[in-house]
Amino acid sequence: MAPVAALALLALIFLLLPGAAPAATSGGAPTAAGGPPPPPSPTGAPETGSPSAGAITLKSAQTGPRKSFYYGFRSPSLRFEIESTQAQNDIRIDVMDEAGETVRSFYRNDVEPGQMLGIRWDGNTAEKRPAPKGHYTFRVVAQANSRIARLAGTSAEPLSLSFDFYVYAFPVLGNHDFGGAQSRFGAGRSGHTHQGQDVMSPCGTPLVAARGGKVQFTGNDSAAGIYLVIDGKGTPYDTAYMHLLHPSPLQTGDVVRTGQPIGFVGETGNAQGCHLHFELWAGPGWYEGGSPVDPLPYLKKWDAYS
Ligand SMILES: [Zn+2]
Repeated sequence: MAPVAALALLALIFLLLPGAAPAATSGGAPTAAGGPPPPPSPTGAPETGSPSAGAITLKSAQTGPRKSFYYGFRSPSLRFEIESTQAQNDIRIDVMDEAGETVRSFYRNDVEPGQMLGIRWDGNTAEKRPAPKGHYTFRVVAQANSRIARLAGTSAEPLSLSFDFYVYAFPVLGNHDFGGAQSRFGAGRSGHTHQGQDVMSPCGTPLVAARGGKVQFTGNDSAAGIYLVIDGKGTPYDTAYMHLLHPSPLQTGDVVRTGQPIGFVGETGNAQGCHLHFELWAGPGWYEGGSPVDPLPYLKKWDAYS
């Protein structure tokens, strides 16, 4: 077996093993120090004349990370090179959802065999809306006949280049529980009702943005303590995080990515014990005419996969 084919086969085995890549699953994990993430790939345009391609196979292909978040630090990406009976090939790279529907396509024209290509998907559909959470797959096809390129030297089985995509991350990175009745949304407080969910967790536990976007507000007052509010990208929802240990390194107006560190669990302000007070506001958002909703069902969902 030629070394390249062996490598490709190894990559295939790797890709087909569920959960085989724990180190690559942290699409939303904290990597704040690394600066802004690389930009997503341009869509490109189909070949305008008559698109043409030889018999295309994939010489190698790799997808990562296995788990990523909308507006997160690491976009789902595909790196691949083709083999072909033709010197120049007009190809298309599709992002497919679980139902087999194409949610976004990228066009690359005059691709040569052995040329390494990279595609980074920003999680938006062709209509520029955030794709829903789910299991997605990249595929490489010839523009001319939509024939799917399979891994060279294997059977007709399509190469699995799939990944999981989420739109929210669980905000507490450590031990936690959702407390009792007094922690719940709507619980009685003197003079008002509790408009968030408390997540009990030791002081100093790292917090991350449940949804990236823009920092709408940072503050410090006697009730909320040190807090910040994030205007979620591509969604009417805002998220608020209260009783932080220290002022967040983020400032109002800063861009923040899904899963980006925003501070630590504390008990500043009117808090009994270390916890995150988390609020989820429906559109148009936090004190912009929206209203808070019960975040617990959402938190539980995010917790299950984060
Ligand atoms: Zn609270």
